[in-house]
Amino acid sequence: MEYPTIEQLHTKLINKEITVADLVAEYVDRAKASDLNAFREIFADTDIAAQVAVAEAMFQQGTATVLTGMPIALKDNILFGGHVVSGSSKMLEHYTASYDATVVAKMKEAGAVIIGRTNMDEFAMGSSTENSAYGPTKNPHDTSKVPGGSSGGSAAAVAAGLCVAAFGSDTGGSIRQPAAFTGIVGLLPTYGSVSRHGLMAMGSSLDVIGPMTHTVGDAKIFYDAFKGKDSYDGTSQEQSIAVSLKKKLAMPKFDKGGIDPEVLSNFEMIVEGLKKEGFTIDEIELPHFADALAVYYILMPAEVSSNLARLDGIRYGDRAESVSINDVYGDTRGALFGPETRRRILVGTYVLSHGYYDAYYNKAVALRATIRKELEQALETYDAILTPTTPTPAFGIGEKVNDPVSMYLSDLFTVPANIAHHPALSVPSGKSAAGLPVGVQFIGARFGEETLFALGKIVEDIR
Ligand code: GLN
Repeated sequence: MEYPTIEQLHTKLINKEITVADLVAEYVDRAKASDLNAFREIFADTDIAAQVAVAEAMFQQGTATVLTGMPIALKDNILFGGHVVSGSSKMLEHYTASYDATVVAKMKEAGAVIIGRTNMDEFAMGSSTENSAYGPTKNPHDTSKVPGGSSGGSAAAVAAGLCVAAFGSDTGGSIRQPAAFTGIVGLLPTYGSVSRHGLMAMGSSLDVIGPMTHTVGDAKIFYDAFKGKDSYDGTSQEQSIAVSLKKKLAMPKFDKGGIDPEVLSNFEMIVEGLKKEGFTIDEIELPHFADALAVYYILMPAEVSSNLARLDGIRYGDRAESVSINDVYGDTRGALFGPETRRRILVGTYVLSHGYYDAYYNKAVALRATIRKELEQALETYDAILTPTTPTPAFGIGEKVNDPVSMYLSDLFTVPANIAHHPALSVPSGKSAAGLPVGVQFIGARFGEETLFALGKIVEDIR
């Protein structure tokens, strides 16, 4: 199903062909009728009506932006003052945000209408949205399949036309992998180009908030409205490199054995299409590209174990029944964290422990620098590095829940960009014989989002 773009809807609003109220009602009605479990919560009618009134006033006063009146959704780990935000965990089931994330404040300024919060893997840990404490989200293209994760609720919501655009967060692929699985566009912006203020921290040196949309054009409009330096996040910066296409792309040599044949043939079709557009595409050695996954599964749990320490039944979150103060921590964390969250806290605590710190954590930090150097060097010569976004199309609900390592392998192509702090864009590139979407990914130079958008638009034309 094709849904209108932000620009098309904006034109209709400007020309008074539709009202903001009608536009928002159309999406909210679809969201309410949907049985995908994409939303953890659709906000109260009165809440949405108040936002609609603000947007309508902006049109009347001539201060409307291109996002004014657009129904959008927040991943359930981004704070919206006065609203519950749970990280899709039991731990924060009743936690109400006391302030707005910077991206939310920017959406309010732009007059967008935030209609709800979307389901996700608990605290953004997972590749299928099955780690949510509130049941899996279904893929709109085949409801027996996962939508990917961890931003699976946002992906399904956009793909099924339940909102115009949605926020995701990407620590190792959580925007791009679900975007590929559901046939939408997802951008991992350069680390630091979007404020993390008000995003629940998973791996602080990896986390980035980004757009999930129907088209590359929408991704640019949405991203431009929430990027930028923010005094609340010391790692945020304002930088952008202008587009200047050399028409040269690189593909890393990778082991094709583990890749689904339909993903490979689709990828080859896109490669051929780009060559017809005048691109040179070289297969290059990036010797440590595939090591990024191992590095990620050391650094990320280390940061997770530290970031989630505050959820202890005392400082934040709910509290389980306990007989003594000493038991509160263990009882609460044992009862209210899901199994994957507990697994990662254990792994993270282990790799940071006194006897193993040098063997794991320090080695991973060193390798991270090598991976970054390799990517940076390649991107001096090439516009971007091109890969499939994921090794397979969407897998079945329940298929990988008992095999964490095979689940982790779905991050093979997405993780290197997070490790190296480079931006990466996933664009839908076709469908498998069974009708499941697949995507290709461009990894760009730091702050080279504009080049990624230009490349993504070419794929939209040739696919
Ligand atoms: N799927 C990856 C993981 O399980 C990525 C998660 C993310 O990007 N938040 O950690």
